Amino acid sequence: MDKHRPRKRFGQNFLTDRNIIERIASAIRPSADQHLLEIGPGQAALTEALLPYCGKLTAVEIDRDLAATLRQRFAAEARFELIEADALKVDFATLGDAPLRVVGNLPYNISTPLVFHLLQSRARIIDFHIMLQREVAERMAARPGNKTYGRLSVAVSLAARADILFDVPPGAFFPPPKVRSSIIRLTPRDVDLPWRALDRVLQAAFSARRKTLRNALGKLFSAEQLQAHGLDPQLRPENLSPDQFLALATTLHQASA
Ligand code: SAM
Repeated sequence: MDKHRPRKRFGQNFLTDRNIIERIASAIRPSADQHLLEIGPGQAALTEALLPYCGKLTAVEIDRDLAATLRQRFAAEARFELIEADALKVDFATLGDAPLRVVGNLPYNISTPLVFHLLQSRARIIDFHIMLQREVAERMAARPGNKTYGRLSVAVSLAARADILFDVPPGAFFPPPKVRSSIIRLTPRDVDLPWRALDRVLQAAFSARRKTLRNALGKLFSAEQLQAHGLDPQLRPENLSPDQFLALATTLHQASA
């Protein structure tokens, strides 16, 4: 494994700091009957720390060389399963019916689309523990009024509870990334969301942060409709709570049904 040259195009920054690896494993604390889904196991830093404690671990790795080494390394381990694929293209519904716990030190370039891809299957996901660029973790967990509050915060907050657990400095990886990272825990909520309508509302709302609601959402809702939702048309989108966005999206969804 030591001979593998980190590939930039797959966002390969491997965790090498034993303390951080242990901290992540203890935050997850899998039990012997749980099924873990690891995205991007790489050189197995987290895999090794988690595998002894769970019932099953399915790992999805895109890099052919790393996949071959992982297969060899865990050949005798019945609890380990490898899917050599792009995690964005895996249909997680095919992994059986058991509830899943998701873990990943994700390549930063695919972290947001992957979180959304996984949130679509969230009904069977117990929780996610994911390493993200710190700014992205902060945007996911941001509350109304915060300057990083936006589309990502609203969508994530409606689909899951988001808790930033701790930060991870660049020196914990090889090679060190240019940015600081954070471990975030997402615990999915049991709600059906009108994703398409929500996306339309959020795109319109946050396309220009300084616009008033009336201007930003004028193409989708009349001033009377906004007022019927108890919203002052002079407010700015960043002042609306996730639930207020959901109420608007539900109205839009029902109008187009
Ligand atoms: N988990 C390891 C660790 O903590 O040291 C590796 C982390 S590294 C930041 C990201 C890993 O994800 C790499 O192994 C990379 O090859 C893999 N990867 C990148 N894009 C992927 C994708 N679309 N699907 C699955 N794995 C991917």
